[in-house]
Amino acid sequence: MYMQVPFVDLKAQYMAIKNEIDQAISSVIYDSAYIGGKYVRQFEEKFAEYCRTKYCVSVGNGTDAIYIVLRALGIGKGDEAITVANSFIATSEAITMTGAGVVFVDCDPKTHNIDPKKVNAAITPRTKAIVPVHLYGRPADMVALEIIAEKHGLFLVEDAAQAHGAQLQGRRVGTFGKAACFSFYPGKNLGAYGDGGAIVTNDENLAAACRMIANHGRVKKYDHEFEGINSRLDGLQAAILCVKLKYLENWTDSRRMNAALYRTLLDGSGIVTPIEREDERHVYHLFVIRVSNREDVEANLARHGISTGIHYPIALPNLAAYKYLGFHPGDFPVAMKFSGEILSLPMFPELTQDQIHYVCEHLVNAVKQQ
Ligand SMILES: *Cc1c(COP(=O)(O)O)cnc(C)c1O
Repeated sequence: MYMQVPFVDLKAQYMAIKNEIDQAISSVIYDSAYIGGKYVRQFEEKFAEYCRTKYCVSVGNGTDAIYIVLRALGIGKGDEAITVANSFIATSEAITMTGAGVVFVDCDPKTHNIDPKKVNAAITPRTKAIVPVHLYGRPADMVALEIIAEKHGLFLVEDAAQAHGAQLQGRRVGTFGKAACFSFYPGKNLGAYGDGGAIVTNDENLAAACRMIANHGRVKKYDHEFEGINSRLDGLQAAILCVKLKYLENWTDSRRMNAALYRTLLDGSGIVTPIEREDERHVYHLFVIRVSNREDVEANLARHGISTGIHYPIALPNLAAYKYLGFHPGDFPVAMKFSGEILSLPMFPELTQDQIHYVCEHLVNAVKQQ
């Protein structure tokens, strides 16, 4: 038997809600509500409610969301912000965009998230913020990070780009830090049909400052208090996201069921599957396993029509972009080791049980062949 198993399937999701989406798009065009307007306001209200925060400021993308929050917090030249060695470059890029220095910390070998025990050693008198990433959809250890941030007077800014709806001890991600940043890149758990992002916070002044930065430093039309940037969620994306947000909890439940089936089928195979603790709600943006013969496994699965990914093949400090920081390959041993072993399996709400059985059968065979 041969099956095609895509890594994600955005078309399947669209087909399931096509009528509503098409109608939403027509309404925006009919109302000419392209920039700002009622669809954007509606989405911001709904997304704040979803995150259980008071305010949501929608922006152009997730990278801008991080940059805008850090800038609104007054972080810039001469400051430092700490983040994790294994993430997408957007996290560290946004820190650099403010003029601040990026400080990388290795990840925890169990969770793949920033290791709070290593954060203390990275704090200097210049440190202003910690930017943890809820990588793959699992909440970072926010309880430990809150204590560190409090003790040293640092801002906690969550990169929740992969973790819409994730929870830790009954609290939603987005409610731990001073603010949290989301991405609505099409492949994210809540994805637009283009770029999009949002900042959520309970701080009214911070929300207002972010809104001004994202909109040319504008107080009102043609009255600008300072130079900001142009980073806004457009009306079409907002209307699409309003429709999709209604389904997000169901989609997350499906992702979690898919993860549970993967875990059951891979049990005892020697493959390292993601741990899931009782007190957390992992939302499985990605289902990342670890195998020692990754290249062979990848090729073997590809031969059987199964698409996989690697998130991420090069740890951030080892990228050419950070050569100027002068790190050695052994400086972040956990992130470095993982970058050679991780493999992201197909994961999306519409993935069928048959597809998961098929993936696991070939995966177990491929691992045995080493
Ligand atoms: C996707 C992503 C971002 C950036 O989001 P964009 O909307 O693509 O700018 C930031 N951080 C992480 C961890 C991401 O996965």
